[in-house]
Amino acid sequence: HDYSKDDIRRIVKEQDVKFLRLMFTDVLGTLKNVEVPISQLDDLLNDKIMFDGSSIEGFVRIEESDMYLHPDLTTWMIFPWSTERGRIARVICEVYKPTGEPFEGDPRNNLIRVLKDMKEAGFTSFNIGPEPEFFLFKMDENGKPTINLNDQGSYFDMAPLDLGGNCRREIVLTLEEMGFDVEAAHHEVAPGQHEIDFQYADALNAADNIQTFKLVVKTIARKYGLYATFMPKPLSGINGSGMHLNMSLFNDDGDVFYDENGELKLSETAYHFLGGLIKHAKSYTAICNPLVNSYKRLVPGYEAPVYVAWSGSNRSPLIRVPNARGLATRLELRSADASANPYLAIASVLEAGLDGLKDGIVPPKSVDRNIYRMDEDEREENEIVNLPDDLLDALEELSSDETMKKALGTKIFNSYLAAKHLEYDAYRAQVSDWERNQYMEKY
Ligand code: GLN
Ligand code: MG
Ligand code: MG
Repeated sequence: HDYSKDDIRRIVKEQDVKFLRLMFTDVLGTLKNVEVPISQLDDLLNDKIMFDGSSIEGFVRIEESDMYLHPDLTTWMIFPWSTERGRIARVICEVYKPTGEPFEGDPRNNLIRVLKDMKEAGFTSFNIGPEPEFFLFKMDENGKPTINLNDQGSYFDMAPLDLGGNCRREIVLTLEEMGFDVEAAHHEVAPGQHEIDFQYADALNAADNIQTFKLVVKTIARKYGLYATFMPKPLSGINGSGMHLNMSLFNDDGDVFYDENGELKLSETAYHFLGGLIKHAKSYTAICNPLVNSYKRLVPGYEAPVYVAWSGSNRSPLIRVPNARGLATRLELRSADASANPYLAIASVLEAGLDGLKDGIVPPKSVDRNIYRMDEDEREENEIVNLPDDLLDALEELSSDETMKKALGTKIFNSYLAAKHLEYDAYRAQVSDWERNQYMEKY
């Protein structure tokens, strides 16, 4: 919605809004918020809300700790859950420096910058349709997640196998009350695993929606005594949770990936974009799969991609071209998971695709056979390489990719790499149960 300041003032009175949650996302993808009472509304509308950014991970050095929040009024939304003392609204903000310039360390500002480049290249919007998956675990009496799943259901199961149904339905209703267009909600393959798909949106709105979606899922699950997690691989031996990203690029004439006369009815632009996505796949994996744990999902046997390849007919590769054509022509990236910072993930895949357009990159041939049945020689013949094995491998790919540096901007690029190397080092120093079980008695 395009709200004016006066619209907001009127809505606040009519709806008895008492608190404002001012939201932004840090570099690691965590949604943060400052809550202010409604008395601060005028300061908010005049971009005068100041906060101390120094406490926010990955965000600022001490000397630049004074930051301003500029609300994006199009994101104004009143939470459907109300308190006895009035209602709570949220608005997503951009972080600005005291000098009045956008802060480069804010992932949302960064995506806005990359989208401006895209517009200069002649496009009107980059659309993203996400397919986030998550698990529902039982919660213990302290509100902590246990490792007990809430049901034993599987793909598209119904009650009583799907005990998440009521909870999932309330999530869907709440999302709808908040303006989401939910397209489908279903039990996923693994026990306790669910997926909710909502309508695609342009890149910035889609990233905002993903952040809001995760908050809603977690909030509603709690009401049912369940703990919702988007952790990519919470349990070994069963599928992990991904967040497939469907992407399409538009100009004034519509979806530029579609060409009635092209091979597979895809345009030359689509093939070059795909070429860029294939070329930079290893490096944006560090952004789309940001956790040590993300790499435990990207192993053979669990419907998650392992190899860099694409196909128009087969579901196993990294990138798939879903059947729909015309305005629904799109590319589906199947590696991403919901622990990724959506602003950074979308910026990185867009920049990869635009690089493909700029350089006219031609993608390798499509791979329409099951890659998991090929041996190493066959994969080599088909130019199929592996996705990074672990976070360290992915970070090395990222650090040497200039296109990704452009996608994130130097500031985020550097702070992201530093923060993720620390995370990897901390992990490497840990000794796991698996190691003790394997080695203790044998050696
Ligand atoms: N959960 C699978 C993954 O890890 C995807 C399953 C599906 O949606 N087909 O990506
Ligand atoms: Mg799915
Ligand atoms: Mg999918």
